[in-house]
Amino acid sequence: MNNSLFRSKILEKIRNTDFQDDLSLARKMAVEYIKNVDSMRVYPDQQALHNLQIFDEELPDEPAETSEILNQLHTYGSPATVAQTGGRYFGFVCGSILPSALSCKWITDAWDQNPAMYVLSPIVSRMEDVVESWLKDILRLPDETVAGYVSGSSTATIIGLTVGRNMLLKNLGYDVIKNGLFNASEINVVLGEGAHSTVYKALSITGLGSGRVTKVPADEQGRIRVDKLPDLDNRTLVILQAGNVNSGAFDNFEEICTKAKIAGSYVHVDGAFGLWAAANEKFSHLTNGIELADSWSVDGHKTLNAPYDNGIILCRHKDMLVNSMQMIGAYIVTSDQRDGMIYTADMSRRARAIDLWATLKGLGKQGVSELVWELHQKAIYFAGLLKEGGFEILNDIVFNQVLARYESDEKTDKIIKGVQESGVCWLGGSKWNGKSVMRVSVSSYKTTYEDIDTSVKEILRIARSIE
Ligand SMILES: *Cc1c(COP(=O)(O)O)cnc(C)c1O
Repeated sequence: MNNSLFRSKILEKIRNTDFQDDLSLARKMAVEYIKNVDSMRVYPDQQALHNLQIFDEELPDEPAETSEILNQLHTYGSPATVAQTGGRYFGFVCGSILPSALSCKWITDAWDQNPAMYVLSPIVSRMEDVVESWLKDILRLPDETVAGYVSGSSTATIIGLTVGRNMLLKNLGYDVIKNGLFNASEINVVLGEGAHSTVYKALSITGLGSGRVTKVPADEQGRIRVDKLPDLDNRTLVILQAGNVNSGAFDNFEEICTKAKIAGSYVHVDGAFGLWAAANEKFSHLTNGIELADSWSVDGHKTLNAPYDNGIILCRHKDMLVNSMQMIGAYIVTSDQRDGMIYTADMSRRARAIDLWATLKGLGKQGVSELVWELHQKAIYFAGLLKEGGFEILNDIVFNQVLARYESDEKTDKIIKGVQESGVCWLGGSKWNGKSVMRVSVSSYKTTYEDIDTSVKEILRIARSIE
């Protein structure tokens, strides 16, 4: 040993602190949060938001103790969270976190694996394969389908559109992977008026352009009108939707995918929250024909109630997906086992497949099927109570989304604001066919019928108070 070698006193001290005490404290705080989440305000109050200024400090020179860091986070952070894991959050399309997933996540956080390649983490590589086959089974997708584990549907859609673009151009005799887009022939993009904003983002990122698309008019539910579909050909990328972000509506996959197949078009389905409907036979009228598409994007962190940062790209063209995500380097050791990075844009990633594995195993096939059906039933129940209370329901409740309106734009907007300030429940607003609507998403396994009673009672109280 050479005494002139540098030794950090800071790192020395960190190495010698008791990890166990810190983890025990963290666990205690997390359990306390979980116990409180159903009785706390669903949205933080002004005081809690004001207190966040405690975090506005310059990075201190001296290291802080983990216990001190935890205390600050729990004291000021926890009350400023949005109680999305409780039963009365109906904003956006979110979902809670199932106990099996959270518990396993604590272990995988301790593992801190990097599933870029098999050689980096055999366990996660194995799990990626297992979850891939479970997903194909639950979502009734073709045998040849492969899965890439990404951060969310936004990224999954970018990958799906990249594969579609590359495949159409390859079929036209052009290698866009090598030559880039500059000399490629034009690809037409066809999507519905109700396409999600992240689809436009993906179009701009992939060089397909968000402004040169053919928008097919939608019906009153937000579904593509098949009679208005333009002629499709082998230079057309069609983007369909399983679950409109407002109404929850599903496009007519059977008819559109059949037409696209005959024409040689590529079909990507944005199924961020709606693809899970395929887990229950009773939704087959919505999902029929969805298996005819070429790729699908779906989230684990919405309907499935897996933790955040869990999206999946599913694609039936393994070669094209892998070629599109391929990279090479002298130090890269690929194997005959699964190297996760060749299915995604990332190299280093979290062990996302284990979140999904734990979530799916904690529900079982039957549990996933019952989860989607119960969310649907609860959305119908929610809509029924609102209707009795004088609200107008603007959509068919085909899945988990409810669009409700109270007399006028002005009153509807006021009610939404009042509800958001109440702390009793939380929901957002949107525009539907030009009108203000209250948008209810029943996405959490935690939501009970009693939570809906409590929430609607408050919504109606606010509606009466503004008259
Ligand atoms: C949420 C959502 C997305 C985006 O998914 P992220 O996981 O947030 O990236 C895309 N499409 C639809 C229909 C969605 O609901």
